[in-house]
Amino acid sequence: MLITDVDVLSASGKLQSGMNVAVNDGRFCYIGKQIPDGDWGERINGSSLVMIPGFVNAHTHIPMVLMRGYGDDMPLDKWLYDRIFPVEDKLTGDDVYWGSMLGIAEMIACGITSFSDMYYYCANISKAVLESGIKANIGRGISCFDDTKRFADLPAHDELVELVNVYKNLGDGRILIDAAPHSEYTTRPDILSDVAEFADMHKLRVQVHLSETRKEHLECTGRHGKTPASVLRDSGIFDLPVTAAHCVWLTDLDIEMMSGYDVTIAHCPQSNLKLASGIAQVEKMRRAGLKIALGTDSAASNNNLDMFEEMRTAALLAKGVSLNPCAMPACEALFMATRAGALAQGRHDSGDIKQGYLADFVLLDKHRPEMVPCHDILSNVVYAAGAASVKMTVVNGRILYRDGNYLTIDIERAIYETKRCVRLLM
Ligand SMILES: [Zn+2]
Repeated sequence: MLITDVDVLSASGKLQSGMNVAVNDGRFCYIGKQIPDGDWGERINGSSLVMIPGFVNAHTHIPMVLMRGYGDDMPLDKWLYDRIFPVEDKLTGDDVYWGSMLGIAEMIACGITSFSDMYYYCANISKAVLESGIKANIGRGISCFDDTKRFADLPAHDELVELVNVYKNLGDGRILIDAAPHSEYTTRPDILSDVAEFADMHKLRVQVHLSETRKEHLECTGRHGKTPASVLRDSGIFDLPVTAAHCVWLTDLDIEMMSGYDVTIAHCPQSNLKLASGIAQVEKMRRAGLKIALGTDSAASNNNLDMFEEMRTAALLAKGVSLNPCAMPACEALFMATRAGALAQGRHDSGDIKQGYLADFVLLDKHRPEMVPCHDILSNVVYAAGAASVKMTVVNGRILYRDGNYLTIDIERAIYETKRCVRLLM
């Protein structure tokens, strides 16, 4: 396709006005002032549009849209044990498939082109990813509460092996498989070491929850005499590329130590606020050189999957807690929501608008009320835009969503089936 006369906003917030962007074979093949020769297929007049890189949701549990709004304003333990776990005990692959499809639909409509997920029934999640056209790094959550079992004895091990053998790189590389030890407090150091060895052998990246709550942090220190971050390091997890979700309770020493490894923090400000987990010290982490991406966490604790909201919350929180309105400027928030997430997923040729990169992008409507006037497009995108501003979402050069319509998802059916699953589950 060829998009003419469009404003292009890079992941780092640099604006190029009146550009012509050609996409061929799933990649940006020309970005410039000239209209390139050739038959580009569909031609889109971009004069009222701004192109931004697609958002990367760096931490979620997509099937948990089934539990959206099922238990809010409750203490964390009560929420988990009385509401979430009993439902999860009953989940079937069919539930997970339809919950994933609905969650993907929600994400596509607000400009998300890729997400990192940790859950189970991952074959069903993968199926929804393949059919919908979105990208995902899929991790089978690994936890172990039986002291007699090693990693290789766990169902999660067998599911991960199947994912690696069958699903890795499917859909032209849209599906990547990650190793996903749930956390320090739901595993043991020897399980973490085995997972690290497995991930190293199969060249997988790692997703993990880290220091989300004070309780987790204190109990780990009591159990092991060291912080959760130290446990992950000593188990070899940090020897791999890692996306660590939350990191609310990292110590200064943790931050310093982690900056020496290939770790990206998946900052989830809305979930942390809603569950009253605390506020991650993002400015401190950034100054220490840690990489930071953004995640919504699940719809059970957010309660939506909207990266516009997450980006804005991250920027506002950083300013509010530091009493510094210059903290986390718009350009940094946009980078965290896009390119930083793609890099954390190991998708080095995605997450920005550059010639040769995969064409994962979003077109926003500059004529929407919330986008007018336009003193600064970057400011409008980060501080004013929302899902309603999204005109089109494109992944690998394929249009998935346009003018409110889904091109790859039967949305009526996804809503109907999700409601049916929820009725049976609850
Ligand atoms: Zn999570």
